Amino acid sequence: MINYKTYLIFLFGSLAVSIGLQMLLPWPWGLMAALGIFIVFPLFLRNRALKRMGGMGSDSGASGGFFGQSQGVKYICLACNNRFKGGICPRCGSKMKRADF
Ligand SMILES: [Zn+2]
Repeated sequence: MINYKTYLIFLFGSLAVSIGLQMLLPWPWGLMAALGIFIVFPLFLRNRALKRMGGMGSDSGASGGFFGQSQGVKYICLACNNRFKGGICPRCGSKMKRADF
């Protein structure tokens, strides 16, 4: 994972660079270059983090996880807002519930 400190350094670093670009480059190019840094750099960091985890893509995992959720549906109790699995709320015993996705 990307740690918080690295992320902050990146954030302020790219902010400084993008402000610098606004001054160096004429109107549309400075903005486009700044946007490019903000879009490309996080992707680059993410790809590097994914490679370190063994190349498992989180995108495919997310779509698989959506369908996998149907096995363990959680409910939210309408009486006390408790989140639980199963038929009856363990906190207040109410059967009034809605599915939580
Ligand atoms: Zn309840």
